[in-house]
This record gives sequence, C-alpha cells and structure tokens, in this order.
Amino acid sequence: MIEKSMKSSVGKALPSMDKIRVRSTIVEMDGDEMARIMWKLVKDKLLLPYLAMDIEYYDLHIKNRDATDDRVTADAARAVIRHGVGVKCATITPDAERVKEYNLSKLWKSPNATIREMLDGTVFRKSIVVKNIRPSVSSWKKPITIGRHAHGDAYSNTEMRVHAPGKAELLFTPAGGGSPVRRTIKEFAGPGIIQGMYNTDESIETFAKACFMYALDQKIDLWFSSKDTISQIYDGRFRNIFEKEYTENWKEKFARAGISYFYTLIDDAAARIMKSEGGLLWALKNYDGDVMSDMIASANGSLAMMTSVLVSPRGYIEYEAAHGTVQKHYYKYLRGEDTSTNPMAIIFAWSGCLRKRAEIDATPDVGSFADKLEEAALSIVAAGVMTGDLLSVARKSPKNRKVNTEAFIDAIAKNLRNKLSG
Ligand code: NAP
Ligand code: MG
Repeated sequence: MIEKSMKSSVGKALPSMDKIRVRSTIVEMDGDEMARIMWKLVKDKLLLPYLAMDIEYYDLHIKNRDATDDRVTADAARAVIRHGVGVKCATITPDAERVKEYNLSKLWKSPNATIREMLDGTVFRKSIVVKNIRPSVSSWKKPITIGRHAHGDAYSNTEMRVHAPGKAELLFTPAGGGSPVRRTIKEFAGPGIIQGMYNTDESIETFAKACFMYALDQKIDLWFSSKDTISQIYDGRFRNIFEKEYTENWKEKFARAGISYFYTLIDDAAARIMKSEGGLLWALKNYDGDVMSDMIASANGSLAMMTSVLVSPRGYIEYEAAHGTVQKHYYKYLRGEDTSTNPMAIIFAWSGCLRKRAEIDATPDVGSFADKLEEAALSIVAAGVMTGDLLSVARKSPKNRKVNTEAFIDAIAKNLRNKLSG
C-alpha cells in the first residue's frame, strides 16, 4: 500500500541537549489508514522536536500483522506489561472485505481484543471538552467517563429460536460431580426465542477494581448502575461485588480524596446523568456501556473528541483514540484530495501517556509538557480553528474556519512552540 509523503513543515527542533527527557521507555503501537497518517504528523510536529524519548516501536499495520502471523500484536501487549505504559494508534479489525482489500492470509482478530485479554483490562472512554463545542446536554460542564465491562453477558451468549411448543430450562452440571441444577425458563405454547448468557465473579471483580482505581487516580466520583431489581441474582451479583470491593479496599481512600461511590438503578442513572454537571466515572455492564458510550460520544459532537484508556488491575495502562482508522478520509487522502480529519484524540492519547509516564517516573517537566500540549490543542479549537467535524457542532462565530488536517496540526505546533518558549 502506498503512503505518499505529506509536505513537511516540522516545527524547529530543539538541540537534543535541550530536549525534555522522558526517563522510561514508552511502548508505541502504530496503526492503519488515516489514523496512521495523523499519528506520524503528531509525532513529527508536536512531540519529536521537544522530547527525547526511548520508544519501543511495534508496527500494528494490518500488513505487518499479516506478515508476522499477528505475533507483533502479542509482542506489543507483552511490552506494555514490561514497561507499564503504552500508546496505540487505531487499527483495522479485518472483515471479509478487508481480507480482500489487503490480500490477507487470514481474518485476524481485533488487536484491541488481543491486548485487552492479555492485560486483563477495562476500557475507559472520556470526552475532550472545549468551551465553544457545546455538548447537546447543556448541563454537562465536565467530561463524563464511561467504564464498560467488556466481558460476557449478551456478547458471548448462546441463543436459539424454538419453533414448536415445549419446555426451555437452565441446566448447570457441576464439574466435580453432584446433582445438576435445573430451572424452568418457559413452557412454550408456540414458537419463540431463548437466550443464555453468563459472567464470572473473577471478571466482575477485575472490572470493579479497575473502576475504583481509575476514579481515585482521576479524583472523580464513581457511579455504578444495573437493574438488580429485575435481575436480582445476575445484576445483584455485580452490585454485591462492587459493594464488597468498595467497603474492603476503597472506602477510606475515597473519603481521603473527597470522592464518593454511588450505586443506583440504570434507568435512574440515565435520568440523573442528563441533569448532572459531568466530571464523573459511570461504570456500566457490557450492553449498557456499549450503548451509553456512543450516546455520550455523539452528544459531545464528534468521535474525535473522545479518548480511550485501557487499565489493567495490575496497573498497566494503554492510551488510544476512541475512533477508528477513518477509512473514508483515507481514501480521499490517497486520491490526493484535501482531508480535514481531527487528530485531537490522538494528541490526547499521547499527552495522557506522557503524563502517566511523568507521574511514575517523577519527572514533572514531562507532565508539564503534556499539559502544555493539551492547552495548545484546546486553545486552537477555542480560537475557531477547526477540522470539519467540529465546525458543524461549534458555537457559531465569525472567527470559525475549517482547515485541513495538516494545517490544524501546524496551528497547534505554532501555539505549542509559543507556550514552551514563553
Ligand atoms: P471510524 O474510523 O471511527 O470513522 C467513522 C466516521 O466517523 C468517519 O467516517 C468520520 O465521519 C467520523 N470520524 C471518526 N474519526 C474521525 C476523526 N478523527 N476526524 C473526523 N471525523 C472522524 O470508524 P469506521 O470507518 O467504521 O472504521 C474504520 C476502521 O477502523 C475499521 O476497519 C475498524 O475495524 C477500525 N476501528 C478501529 C478502532 C480502534 O483501533 N480503536 C476502533 C473502531 C474502528 P465522516 O465520514 O462523516 O466525516
Ligand atoms: Mg457501541
């Protein structure tokens, strides 16, 4: 696949002795299509001129995953475990069409799923808030983070249609002997449908730990909601595990940090969130999290205004953008047309990763660089310079103007240079 080079006007680099030193290794995972193009621009123009970094680079480009029988993905996940912090570009999850398009030997698994399984992690998605991009919900002043339990429930269900009258049962056969347990689901008088699903205590405990850890790290309240009045055993188990984890391991830490844990029913939480100011973590079961994270993302105007972080209960952490590879824009780019694709989520993935590195390494200069990078990006949007996706949702102003991908990054680069020298 051909990637033409973009005309480069890279910000003037600092002499290497003046660069800010990132003490420990960063694990970088490159990706596909338009996200890959923006990734390189962000690195070349916003990071490399100012930072001296030891990067362990893994190329998760779809052709390289194919060439390595996807070993590169597992290697990258192991590197995150070794070094603690990683940053990942969006990657193609192949389907039948992609297998043809890229002439792949196999329909490779989603890299995100592979990494999530190896890190045993929970994904937190958080919106990027700028004052002139109004969320559709006017009370939201601070970002809302969604923690989705991406394991089990309807996503690994067993389901069937029944075509005739008959009896459907739940049956559990203990592995070590003992008598099977049966429950009648329904005596069908005619055709219908049945679904069986499960979760495990272990996975729910991991999820709960990751949520408490993230809320404490960010110093924000944690809400957890389910429907335990209806699913008293199933959702009740989630509620009890969260409650136990809170009481045993977090209650005092939360009190010291001035934050709280709050359980409520999913419908009550949905009603309350519409009136809240935001600034909280909302932990949700798999299906609820799938639905609510898309609702929150779209209420914030654009998929590109949302970052995503994978937190493992053992403390490993991986930052990425919540959007995909932006395929349609990439095809335009390949045809030589102008693209106005938004790199904000990629910039925030890098700043998040650098800030975390700074915290672990105790290098405040790296943390301060991450802050300035975010301020430089946010103030450019606030000044009305924006990509196409934002123009349609921004507060109307004569100062607003749409720029292309590279011009947007150049404007941020100039702003960053001023902030760093001032
Ligand atoms: P997508 O890349 O998220 O893009 C969907 C649409 O959202 C785009 O066509 C664009 O809308 C808008 N959009 C997303 N990011 C944008 C940005 N940064 N700036 C401006 N607009 C943006 O999803 P997709 O096209 O469905 O998926 C493409 C590939 O991404 C797939 O192969 C999928 O497997 C992969 N994917 C990867 C990840 C990941 O690695 N984390 C996540 C999701 C999807 P307009 O066309 O209307 O401008
Ligand atoms: Mg969804």
